[in-house]
Amino acid sequence: MENCIFCKIINQEIPSYRVYEDEKVYAFLDISQVTKGHTLVVPKEHVADIFEYEEDLAAKVFARIPKIAKAIEKAFPEMEGLNIMNNNKELAYQSVFHSHIHLIPRYSKKDDFSIHFGDHTGKYSTEEMTAIANAIKEQVK
Ligand code: AMP
Ligand code: ZN
Repeated sequence: MENCIFCKIINQEIPSYRVYEDEKVYAFLDISQVTKGHTLVVPKEHVADIFEYEEDLAAKVFARIPKIAKAIEKAFPEMEGLNIMNNNKELAYQSVFHSHIHLIPRYSKKDDFSIHFGDHTGKYSTEEMTAIANAIKEQVK
């Protein structure tokens, strides 16, 4: 897609620190290394976000994640964890609208990365939980 920075990276029109490539995906270092080895995995086909994936493309792209995760772990054995993140839409912190999966190795609790879920157990009643589950269930195709 025109004017898509990640399409340009995939097409070698702008440089990147490539770590893996095959017919379906391109993986490269995030220019802003939250931690050492922070890698982005992108489908070569332009899809803006998770809502645009066909099942087959998702299967192929997400199937590559363990291979790349294992490579990062082997490259940096001092790593003690790995967060996998995929932001969708601006509210959820997506800033590049070519879908990508962040692999963020974790070395220390003091690195500049955090996810805070909090504990919301009990927020909804049993009936409300059932209604929420049903609302989604009815839409799964
Ligand atoms: P997100 O905020 O989830 O959309 O993530 C987009 C990521 O793309 C950010 O972490 C940026 O640092 C990264 N990024 C933007 N431009 C480039 C680039 N030219 N090369 C590598 N990473 C980039
Ligand atoms: Zn693109």
